[in-house]
Amino acid sequence: MKVFYDLHLHSCLSPCGGDDMTPNNLVNMAVLLGYQLIAVTDHNACGNAKAVMEAGRAAGLVVVPGMELCTAEEAHVVCLFPTLKAAEAFEAFVKENSPPLQNRPEIFGRQFLLDSRDEPVGEEERMLLAASFVTAEEAAKKARELGGTAFPAHVDRDSYSLIASLGAIPPEPDFHTAEISPQGDPRALLRTNPELMGKLLLMDSDAHYLENMPDPAAWLELPENTPQALIAVLNGELPARWYHPGWGEGGRCASE
Ligand SMILES: [Zn+2]
Ligand SMILES: [Zn+2]
Repeated sequence: MKVFYDLHLHSCLSPCGGDDMTPNNLVNMAVLLGYQLIAVTDHNACGNAKAVMEAGRAAGLVVVPGMELCTAEEAHVVCLFPTLKAAEAFEAFVKENSPPLQNRPEIFGRQFLLDSRDEPVGEEERMLLAASFVTAEEAAKKARELGGTAFPAHVDRDSYSLIASLGAIPPEPDFHTAEISPQGDPRALLRTNPELMGKLLLMDSDAHYLENMPDPAAWLELPENTPQALIAVLNGELPARWYHPGWGEGGRCASE
């Protein structure tokens, strides 16, 4: 089945995320726009994943629990998990491997934890925008151990991307998938970074505000619309058919 997705969305837990990015607003906007699958990927935290998953269940939308990790290379890597339990185990791992910095909400923004009725249940006190001590390779290894997947985020951007930090996507770990932002030009990127050839190319919005959630444009063909099937495809364990509006279908344009 063809699934319109957005695998990189921030809730109000991210200090830079809009306060109206509540679990129900996120889910209802995604449903309204016509998405069938989304992931919630706050910076270095998974504290709102449970609420967004519950809101998604009530609205008939598949929600994958995830995190946008800031790695030791100061690169963003999106990590997705098959279950809430796996996401929480990854969050515990990240907490253990992060500098002990407290958020300063007046400077960076508040980090709201909500329940599935959008009621506040607390605020995250860790500074979520700080780089962790976890390398991209360690993140990918840990995510895989937990049954999940990891892929470099917005590789076209000149800050907080693996290509910006290292000049290229490293051969290890073997990322099967990479994300390009909607503004990115995959063909230009392929010329400077041929290591992207053959990778499954995702386009996610990285929306921090409701009004930045775009109409669905990219799709993946999945055997079923579940986090498990998605993860297997992103890890290259199942064959993928995919469409990226700037590149074409199934990577066909990559070999032109
Ligand atoms: Zn990012
Ligand atoms: Zn992001």
